[in-house]
Amino acid sequence: MVDRGVVLGEPGSVALEEITVDRPGPGEVLVRIEATGVCHSDLHVIQEDGWHHALPVLLGHEGAGTVEAVGEGSDGLAVGDRVVIGWKTACGNCAMCLRGEPRQCKKPPTAQGRLHRHDGAELTPVLRTGTFATHTVVPAVAAVKVPRELPVEQACLLGCAVATGVMSVLETAKVWEGARVAVIGCGAVGLSVIQGARIAGASEIRAIDLDERKLEQATRFGATHTEPGTVDFVFDVVGRSATFEQALGMIGSGGTVVLIGLSPAGETAAVDLPGLFGKRARVLVSHGGDHLPEEDFRRLAQWALEGKLDLAGMVTRTGPLEGWEDALAAMQGGDVIRTVLLP
Ligand SMILES: [Zn+2]
Ligand SMILES: [Zn+2]
Repeated sequence: MVDRGVVLGEPGSVALEEITVDRPGPGEVLVRIEATGVCHSDLHVIQEDGWHHALPVLLGHEGAGTVEAVGEGSDGLAVGDRVVIGWKTACGNCAMCLRGEPRQCKKPPTAQGRLHRHDGAELTPVLRTGTFATHTVVPAVAAVKVPRELPVEQACLLGCAVATGVMSVLETAKVWEGARVAVIGCGAVGLSVIQGARIAGASEIRAIDLDERKLEQATRFGATHTEPGTVDFVFDVVGRSATFEQALGMIGSGGTVVLIGLSPAGETAAVDLPGLFGKRARVLVSHGGDHLPEEDFRRLAQWALEGKLDLAGMVTRTGPLEGWEDALAAMQGGDVIRTVLLP
């Protein structure tokens, strides 16, 4: 069967086209993609003309599927395993990894040169994954085995939105039991922050969004209030000057602002430095919730199976790979929490 993928060929030009997927090399696996969430970062890649990725780019980075071939030395994985693909794996030998901080690794391994356009041009998979496709090849460490009991259209969400949101709370911010939390921006990542705060035992969870529909959703996922108030942690999932400034204004003494949202190039914010000092504020940047796929996907999957984490409620729509364009439009319009494509 011919492989297909959604490709950003040149700035402004995206199409579902035929692609070629090679066999996996040593330490790599071939995955048949069965479900892939449509995340804002894919839109960011399109709007920022590749966003650090060399064109042509294979889109998609929130995927799950089944291992179809295993390269030499890919221990621990076998053909037939259900896996979630992670984009934030650790290399194991950079300065961060060597000092025991694999969550801060800046050199995640990549399976280079396995994906091509029909004319042979090498495709750059978004965030080393490339999941808007029928197949992809990734380093074995980036394919994390999860129980097959978890429906695949839910499992894929662990790959980006859920890992980013939940781990921003548990890893980046280390929210304590009883803390007061607020979330600005209640899309899929924001709802995952809310779920993370609920799991951490937050006493108050404030959901803030300009879209009324999202506030209503937020209460279903555990938000206790839908208006601003003084809190210990504010998660800015939007990443614009207005939201960041609002976040700084909402923290109480010793409070923490966590920046999660990817800002457009050139975005700046005004900060009242004496106010920051007076509050003894902390500002943290969450890079995907500092998640580590091999450690976090399993426990997140387990929480989903136990009912601690609601993934089913986050899947608003499913559709074929052909529906990628409608899915991006629905996300921009705020009509869905997540559309999941089933290649
Ligand atoms: Zn994403
Ligand atoms: Zn590293």
